[in-house]
Amino acid sequence: MGPLAVERVDVMSTLGRVLAEPVVSPSTIPPWPNSSMDGYAVRAHDTGRAPVELAVVGRIIAGSMPSRPLHAGEAMRIFTGAPLPEGADAVVPQEDVAADNGRITIAASVSSGAYVRPAGEDVRAGDVVVQPGGSIGAAEVGLLATLGYSQVRVFRRPRVGILSTGNELADLGTEPGPGQIPNTNTYSLMAQVIEAGAEPINLGVAPDQLDAITERIRWGFDAADVLVTSAGVSVGELDLVRDALERCGAELHLWKVSMRPGKPITFGTRGGRPVFGLPGNPVSAMVTFELFVRPALRRMAGAQSLHRPRISARALATIENPGSRRGYLRVTLTPDAKGFGARLTGDQGSAILRSMVLADGLAVVAPDTTIAEGQAVDVIVLRSLEPRSR
Ligand code: AMP
Ligand code: MG
Repeated sequence: MGPLAVERVDVMSTLGRVLAEPVVSPSTIPPWPNSSMDGYAVRAHDTGRAPVELAVVGRIIAGSMPSRPLHAGEAMRIFTGAPLPEGADAVVPQEDVAADNGRITIAASVSSGAYVRPAGEDVRAGDVVVQPGGSIGAAEVGLLATLGYSQVRVFRRPRVGILSTGNELADLGTEPGPGQIPNTNTYSLMAQVIEAGAEPINLGVAPDQLDAITERIRWGFDAADVLVTSAGVSVGELDLVRDALERCGAELHLWKVSMRPGKPITFGTRGGRPVFGLPGNPVSAMVTFELFVRPALRRMAGAQSLHRPRISARALATIENPGSRRGYLRVTLTPDAKGFGARLTGDQGSAILRSMVLADGLAVVAPDTTIAEGQAVDVIVLRSLEPRSR
């Protein structure tokens, strides 16, 4: 499934979205050579026999143009960002001159180009300044505004229907009844959808009943480009999501992946729209979203790069992955002189959501493998490594 349609949006609404066309600069920035200091515009050649005295023949402030060219033996007072007069090719900072009664004395010669920002040092007309397929960040927004783009063409954000299933779920705002637990997955998954640059649609909670699940899935396929369900996809008799998907006409392409957390997961399509049936445990749902759903959403959002960065870190303590499944273990990452050290966040149970709160990344460990302290381990980096509350 390729990128979705293209739409024009206001530049301030493009943050985190993916550009659909190259941005070609219509202009040269800066349009004229200008001063990078408060001082005096001069002809460098005039200062060759320093010390030299020059007559101050004008004053150029930022936001105005010089009134006339600069001739030999002359200087003009100039301020940061103001255009150089024709004939001038250098600026002497004001701290380097002695000014007296309309004349300045320059003690040392200056070279051509000193303290001058040449025209086009940032962007030249016709330059491709942002390539399509890249995510738009604050710097891109600034550059687009500089070039006069109030709107740009970006890919439409995928709409992602999120359905939680389970008799035991009490939704946010309702008191859990006897034997009930709070609904976590709807919210963590909607947040992951937003983080991936897509738009969540909350399809609510369906009880473990085939009709109820089928009905919500139908709504989902009507309203969304992608469907993500959680729970009810394992082998129990109340695991009805796969049946419901097939009843809605979805073709299921896989079931179960040899990974931990995770394993019971299904993937299907219906009329070209993907559907992911994720496991119910909150950590399993989040990790399988990361590995399977997020790259698909990035693709549909038009992004060239689909995957999180992976780094090689050193284990700060033993990291064990017993059993026959590939492990995606929650680790903290600590920068040090040699790169990053990785340490398990603690117990790795797939219902321990705190392990995701604590995690900077997922250590990818082969089945039945122990990584000893000091050994290298591959880590998928889940977030920027800024200090944060946890
Ligand atoms: P299941 O795959 O339906 O057997 O669910 C696996 C585990 O995940 C069970 O302990 C469920 O109670 C739990 N679970 C399922 N859905 C959610 C949810 N939306 N929020 C929190 N826990 C859930
Ligand atoms: Mg269940």
